[in-house]
Amino acid sequence: MSIFRPNIDELAAYVPGEQPAPGTRVIKLNTNENPYPPSPVAMQVLRDLDGEFLRRYPDPMASLACHAAARVYGVPREWVLAGNGSDDLLTMILRACAEPGRSVAYPMPTYVLYRTLAQIQNARCIEVEFDDDYHLPADELAAARAAVTLVAAPNSPSGTVWPVEMLDDLAGRVAGMIVIDEAYVDFAEQDALALVRTRPNVIVLRTLSKGYSMAGLRLGFGVAQPALLAGLIKVKDSYNVDAMACRAGAAAMDDQAHKRANAAKVKASRARLADDLAGLGFRVWPSQSNFLLARPPAGQAEALYQALKARGILVRYFKQAKLEDKLRITIGSDDQNDALAAAIRELV
Ligand code: PMP
Repeated sequence: MSIFRPNIDELAAYVPGEQPAPGTRVIKLNTNENPYPPSPVAMQVLRDLDGEFLRRYPDPMASLACHAAARVYGVPREWVLAGNGSDDLLTMILRACAEPGRSVAYPMPTYVLYRTLAQIQNARCIEVEFDDDYHLPADELAAARAAVTLVAAPNSPSGTVWPVEMLDDLAGRVAGMIVIDEAYVDFAEQDALALVRTRPNVIVLRTLSKGYSMAGLRLGFGVAQPALLAGLIKVKDSYNVDAMACRAGAAAMDDQAHKRANAAKVKASRARLADDLAGLGFRVWPSQSNFLLARPPAGQAEALYQALKARGILVRYFKQAKLEDKLRITIGSDDQNDALAAAIRELV
């Protein structure tokens, strides 16, 4: 007999993007990190942290961080639940809602962790393919009658969004909870946060990993009505947000000007890089996130990924249906983006 449950034996573990050792000279455009530093105010909070905060267990509900998030989102504090990154919120959601005999639905291609977490619960995955223009397959998702429906908006790896009215309509048609994963919303022109007021089955996920340049800190939030959060609180780890993330994260949330300025730079660079790639013959999908999905002219995506890697430039290649001919490229600083474009110009 295997030590593990059969579905764990069969599980293909989620593979995060490559993380070269700190100090390695690479241009790293593969895991959607922000090229700019975190808020100086948050960094000062980290430097000033009293040892007492580490000696004691942290606040199980990370109230300081939730208060800061509630102020920024314009919702009551009871409508915010903090997690060890938004991945932790996804884990809580699937732990609380998914099991054998229940299904989990999401469009594909999307964030691969949705599938992994559903498979850990041994739930049935209903994967609905996007068309080539990434229209939201709302009818198929609603028809799935899933316990959990997940939509990343902006979606990864496409960077695309859908009208909020479309998400609202979908929320009214799904059977169970609908997760609107807004990890990349700081680079978008719209958000669906208002839906939590009128839709008791909606949870909106946010993170400090992208817009706030704090992927290493691990802090994310779920925003939903308290009745929905109550079920997630039952299954969360007791101390799921550490004392440093709670305090530095709260300070970062309070420094909206810093986040907005960096997001504006990323958006300007995104437009420039999209133009450069289009000029090199790529098809580039319209992105509202901090990355671009781009199809090289002769479909040589994997070879190009390898050739860029050999030159010290990391982008993301997914060996997966509908993505074999595409690259996902994180928006770096203008210097990094220019180096990428120059390398591509030589290679294609
Ligand atoms: N959602 C999406 C769509 C993502 O791409 C990511 C980043 N890998 C996450 C959630 C998780 O972000 P984090 O756990 O860093 O908050």
